[in-house]
Amino acid sequence: MSSVKLSGVRKSFGALEVIKGVDLTVEDKEFVVFVGPSGCGKSTLLRMIAGLETISAGDLEIGGTRMNDVDPSRRGIAMVFQTYALYPHMTVRENMGFALRFARVPKEEINRQVNAAARILALEPLLDRLPRQLSGGQRQRVAIGRAIVRQPEVFLFDEPLSNLDAELRVHMRIEIARLHKELQTTIIYVTHDQVEAMTLADKIVVLRDGVIEQAGMPLDLYDDPANQFVAGFIGSPK
Ligand code: ADP
Ligand code: MG
Repeated sequence: MSSVKLSGVRKSFGALEVIKGVDLTVEDKEFVVFVGPSGCGKSTLLRMIAGLETISAGDLEIGGTRMNDVDPSRRGIAMVFQTYALYPHMTVRENMGFALRFARVPKEEINRQVNAAARILALEPLLDRLPRQLSGGQRQRVAIGRAIVRQPEVFLFDEPLSNLDAELRVHMRIEIARLHKELQTTIIYVTHDQVEAMTLADKIVVLRDGVIEQAGMPLDLYDDPANQFVAGFIGSPK
């Protein structure tokens, strides 16, 4: 069970409140996409779920357990960022296995996990290469591979494709959809790309200025946006 539940979640940085009471349930195995303009709080919400930011008020539950004060490494989540800093002096295999080695997982088990992730991401022929010998898309696949080997119950993606060119973005979008099917995990995915949101999401959450404007299935938001703001973001012609 890996549902994610936010109840009355708020976040302030000093006097500035940036998340202003968010209630949201992400069901087990659901693919939920957060969209909204720059600065509306998408990354802050993800970082609170990941445990990289404290929660100022409200509750976070993952798999039915309150997680507000639980260490990031014990939340069963893995996060993939927009800027994927791979270790330049380590091979693809070493980059992907690093978190497990750090956690003292036995070598054979690390190899098994890395090989499985490499198969899913078509990285098998590249396992002995260094990051500088990879294309942008291949590097981003390694970053996703690093998350997969940890076998998280929940994946958090923060604009993972926004540094890639248009053609590669389309390709990776298909890869991520396939990944969701194959791994059967819960995914929370941030993007400002409407096409990405429409094609990947089971549910889209539209954020504005720290609050949820509307949440629902892509076509429902497209056909019946709650207001002009949502219409503008989801791209329906109304
Ligand atoms: P988004 O990811 O939607 O672009 P963010 O979650 O990064 O938005 O930021 C939401 C708001 O919180 C912005 O106004 C941003 O400047 C502010 N913010 C984010 N992180 C910090 C921080 N560590 N300290 C102060 N303000 C922050
Ligand atoms: Mg952001």
